Amino acid sequence: MTDLPENVQSLIDYKLAKSTRVHPIQLGENHRVWIKREDELSASISGSKLRKFASLIPYFKKERVEYVVAIGGPHSNNLVGLVQLLKENEIEFHLLVRAPADRSLRGNALLLAMLSMPESCHQIDRCDWGHVHERADEIIRNRKTKEKTMIIPEGCSVIQSLAGAMSLAEDILKNEVEQGCQFQRIYIDSGTGLSAVGLILGLELLLDEEVCSEKELIITLIAGDEDFFGERLAFFRKEFFLSSNIKIKKRLAYKVIRPVLAPKFGATNASLLKACNNIAQSHGLLMDPVYSVKHFETMKHHARNAEQAESLFIFNGSPLGLMGFQEKLELIR
Ligand SMILES: *Cc1c(COP(=O)(O)O)cnc(C)c1O
Repeated sequence: MTDLPENVQSLIDYKLAKSTRVHPIQLGENHRVWIKREDELSASISGSKLRKFASLIPYFKKERVEYVVAIGGPHSNNLVGLVQLLKENEIEFHLLVRAPADRSLRGNALLLAMLSMPESCHQIDRCDWGHVHERADEIIRNRKTKEKTMIIPEGCSVIQSLAGAMSLAEDILKNEVEQGCQFQRIYIDSGTGLSAVGLILGLELLLDEEVCSEKELIITLIAGDEDFFGERLAFFRKEFFLSSNIKIKKRLAYKVIRPVLAPKFGATNASLLKACNNIAQSHGLLMDPVYSVKHFETMKHHARNAEQAESLFIFNGSPLGLMGFQEKLELIR
């Protein structure tokens, strides 16, 4: 099967979750890896996010959700992307944003300030961040009108985003057919985990046991740890069953690895910024340091020490993520 079941496809807006290309990149030492250009899904929304929105936004429209409270970090790719689509679809929103350590407006913090009115964006002190969901409930409770509302947690990690995230699996199988090859190893990065979970569940849904056993997924954990990821996978497997009545069997092997550079989420250092620069010079790829550069360097390290395999690297990012690092990148030159 190369297409998702009809009841899953019907949840996805394929004008948002478009097909993206793959092309080989040369890593030296006889290592050739294919790269999937999810960065090309949109000029202004990070690829992995757009896939999630591709089922979340249709859900809002179908259920006539009129007001959304969305939660996220100050440099969130997710909020920047989500707000663009909420505006386009005339859905009102309120943002609860964790106060940044550095208050200068740069990168996504600047874009978020441009995209939202000050009265629809609230900063939450870092010490109060543990209560952010209570604040969201309170905002909803205080709404006088009787409209339909929804709270969106960090990374849009809700079941309504899963079908869209699964479209990545479907598109990879399309790439395999076009290129006449099978990717034995797939490298993906993970933050809240939903994109990687969507890929795993999507492949397990689409492929039979034998084909699944010939593939392995390597997940760079940009945030969270192995237990957290395993819990997210189990949670969404169950939620998917509850919402679609489709039971997805565990049949794909996956392995999580930690970033080889600046492993703490959001941390950067000179090696990471140099790598960012080198990737641009060697491969012509403009990668965001927070996710994609860490993911790329970690993939290279893993590939060098692993058996040769036809491999696919998922480039989930967006060069917009470079915006916050202009001065730092200038300094390391
Ligand atoms: C958000 C993001 C991720 C992580 O996606 P999750 O679904 O939260 O795991 C990975 N890479 C990039 C470039 C992102 O913007």
